[in-house]
Amino acid sequence: MKAEVVVIGAGVIGVLTTAALLEKGISNIVVVEKNYPGSGGSFRCATGIRASFTSREHVEVMKRAIELWPILSSKYGIKYSRDGYLWVLTREQDVEFFKKVVEFQNSRGVPTRVIGPSEVQELVPTMRTEKIIAAVHDPLAGKADCFEAVLNPLRDLRKQGVSILSRTQANKLIVEDNTVKGVHTDKGVINADQVLVAAGGGSRKLLKTIGIDLPIRDLPKHVMVTETFKPFIKPLIIDWSTSSYILQLLHGNFYIGADIPEQYDVEASNKIEFLRKAARVWTDYFPWLKEVYILRYWTGFYDMTPDHHPIIGPIKEVEGLYVAAGFSGHGFMMAPAVAEALAEYITGGKPVVKEFENLNYERFVRGDVIKEIAVFG
Ligand SMILES: Cc1cc2nc3c(=O)[nH]c(=O)nc-3n(C[C@H](O)[C@H](O)[C@H](O)COP(=O)(O)OP(=O)(O)OC[C@H]3O[C@@H](n4cnc5c(N)ncnc54)[C@H](O)[C@@H]3O)c2cc1C
Repeated sequence: MKAEVVVIGAGVIGVLTTAALLEKGISNIVVVEKNYPGSGGSFRCATGIRASFTSREHVEVMKRAIELWPILSSKYGIKYSRDGYLWVLTREQDVEFFKKVVEFQNSRGVPTRVIGPSEVQELVPTMRTEKIIAAVHDPLAGKADCFEAVLNPLRDLRKQGVSILSRTQANKLIVEDNTVKGVHTDKGVINADQVLVAAGGGSRKLLKTIGIDLPIRDLPKHVMVTETFKPFIKPLIIDWSTSSYILQLLHGNFYIGADIPEQYDVEASNKIEFLRKAARVWTDYFPWLKEVYILRYWTGFYDMTPDHHPIIGPIKEVEGLYVAAGFSGHGFMMAPAVAEALAEYITGGKPVVKEFENLNYERFVRGDVIKEIAVFG
């Protein structure tokens, strides 16, 4: 089998990049997926989208993503809504910290604001606000349907002749004379002029087959969803002091996440401790949640890098090889901008957002990691 481009991984990054490549006139593309499309982080995620970050790189990349989400939404029929984010603060020291964060975000055009409990009450009428001192509101933030964001473009790709090989695992990259030549899979060799590794946490193992050690580690994250309701909570709400969050997904379920002590690179398993914490925090804010049934609990992984920013772009040592991994819990929201940037790189151009150039793998080789005004989220 021979392709112009092989994309390894059919998560939101691999699928949207393939769609962006097709738009640029590359049609001989093979997508290799070891399980089924979306089965990695993409179908487990909270679907949150925001530009309210604390590094120039994250803010600029996410601002571009927020411009692109409505375009993708109407092109592929993906539910997307700018319902905002709310960080609720219950400790004085956090309010001071967030004032600095908001100042930085406003200076880069992100319209976050510090608001009081009465405004929180207006935004979320069913929430108890007695404990809240202040909150940060990001009105530009939102959410999208993660299933539609993968499956709808995928349908289009298939119609346009892209080969999507599910249940096919990439085992080893083929490199000769510092140039990528293809990939060994468990179903045979695929020769290719260019290869994109967008395999989430699996990217590290693949790059190791050619001696490149991506600094990515998998961190388990726990979430649960309830039965579905008509829409009535708009923003994604983060309780800063307990590192937990709740949102109503666009298909109606409440989706609740909460951090509990975890270790990197372990087999993820469900823990009663998570259910206890998530229930305690959110039934306190929303007593009516006690009446709501939990449907499912799952774990997923954040593919974490040391500076919590992704690794995106060409691998300089190997001609024709590109990587997009290490999204550290934010790959869904930035996917449209990442796809656009990768399609530029792969067709010989430069990304529209120049900050992408700071997100290359070489920053770790140089020891020049991304700086944040505060470590955040
Ligand atoms: C609980 C949770 C909540 C999250 N919430 C958010 C959020 O609110 N907003 C946000 O932006 N992000 C969020 N994320 C992160 C987000 O889900 C990921 O960053 C994003 O989905 C990454 O997309 P991806 O395509 O890079 O990876 P994935 O979706 O993981 O896709 C990679 C694919 O590669 C395949 N693969 C791996 N190895 C191989 C191989 N050797 N050969 C072939 N295929 C292979 C996998 O099977 C997988 O399907 C969350 C993640 C979790 C776990």
